[in-house]
Formats: sequence, structure tokens, C-alpha cells
Amino acid sequence: MELNEEQLLDYLHNTETNNRCSGHSDFREWSNETPELQSKLIKIGQLDDSIQADEDQYNFPYWGEDAPISLTKYPYYGCDLLQCKECNTLFFYYLEIGGHGAQKRYRVLRKELFENNPGSF
Ligand SMILES: [Zn+2]
Repeated sequence: MELNEEQLLDYLHNTETNNRCSGHSDFREWSNETPELQSKLIKIGQLDDSIQADEDQYNFPYWGEDAPISLTKYPYYGCDLLQCKECNTLFFYYLEIGGHGAQKRYRVLRKELFENNPGSF
């Protein structure tokens, strides 16, 4: 399925997660794929064409658990959406191709990071 921002947020709000994976705490910020994580995830969709990078896409916090999520910023607009088969947690996924070769990166979607006021960054 292809999702716009509203549909993504609806999906996130309507997804019931459990604590079987302890919230995938290593992936509260962008982290590289592990074999364990890969074995648990299935792709559920991607962001649709209404979501495009804005001119200021790189001027945005990337690292850190509390880095905000904005779909018009790098790397969110190009992400796939995956879901854990065990705990239902939703993840962003993209292929990081800068630096030392390609790395598969994942980050847990957290509602509160979308709800920050974009004007305050
Ligand atoms: Zn899980």
C-alpha cells in the first residue's frame, strides 16, 4: 500500500503494539539492520508521491532518539514502512548509500515525534 502523511498517522494511531520486543529500543534512533530485526519485519507499504523532499531537506536533526520526524526531510520521504510480526511496531527503512558503502537503516515510528510543532526546530 502507498500512504500519504494522514494515512500514515492514522495507521500509526490504530496500531496496537505489545511489549514482546521491549519496544525495539535500539531502533528509537536510526540504526543499522541486525539479522534478528530483519527476521521479524515485513514490508507493509511505502510513502506515496504526495511526499517529496523539500528544499531544506538536509537542514534537520538526524541522530538521536528524540530527533523529530518530518516526511519532507531526509531520509523520511524515501522510506519504506515495515512492521514487526511479533509486537506490531512500525519502522521506517531506507538504504543509506553515503559514507562507507550501503547500510540498511531502520527507525521506530513514534507518534510523539510527529506531533512536535515543526516551527519550533
Ligand atoms: Zn517487535
